[in-house]
Amino acid sequence: MRVLVLEDEPALRESLAQRLRGEGFVVDAAADGIEGEYAGREYPLDVAIVDLGLPGRSGLEVIRAWRDAGKSFPVLVLTARDRWQQKVEALQSGADDYVTKPFQFEEVLARVQALLRRSGGWSQSLQRCGEIELDTRSQQVTVAGAPVELTAFEYRLLEYLMLRAGQVVSKTELTEKLYEQDFERDSNVIEVFVGRLRRKLDPDGTRQPIETLRGRGYRMARD
Ligand code: CA
Repeated sequence: MRVLVLEDEPALRESLAQRLRGEGFVVDAAADGIEGEYAGREYPLDVAIVDLGLPGRSGLEVIRAWRDAGKSFPVLVLTARDRWQQKVEALQSGADDYVTKPFQFEEVLARVQALLRRSGGWSQSLQRCGEIELDTRSQQVTVAGAPVELTAFEYRLLEYLMLRAGQVVSKTELTEKLYEQDFERDSNVIEVFVGRLRRKLDPDGTRQPIETLRGRGYRMARD
């Protein structure tokens, strides 16, 4: 999952980015409204965390510009405690939820995960595709009830495919969503990871939960 952290205070921006990376997110960070608006328009984000008081362009203006441009990824706003009007205005501008500063990282994470579940049509933290179960809260994966050990990258890949079960996902989309922007983009690497994931999910090759569509990408079986 790819998240934008738009926050001008360096220590807060860095700590949010670092902790989100630790949770397996791909993080784009921006320090002002102009850079942030650009990132939201140009990068394939799944969710954005936006501080409202920003240099260059305010958080509200950035959110309105994204919504006017047809961007529908969920937005979590960071607001000051005593500014209730700001919260209302942010929600009216197209934000989906807010967290009041100062906050605990766990609250931001829980709200981001809730927004992602809703935007992906997931109402619960436990997702199922056939015999595969994935718990977005504990990041545990089981196949037919047996735990499967995945690396952080394999988990992100599976989560992404399961979120879009039944849909074709191209290698380009996977590369953009699962790598930081400065990583070398090589779709062969995605093939290697999909291969590894398949062997872990389906060691004897009987269920084949991830279908390859030649020249188009991959599709996770719904059930
Ligand atoms: Ca600020």
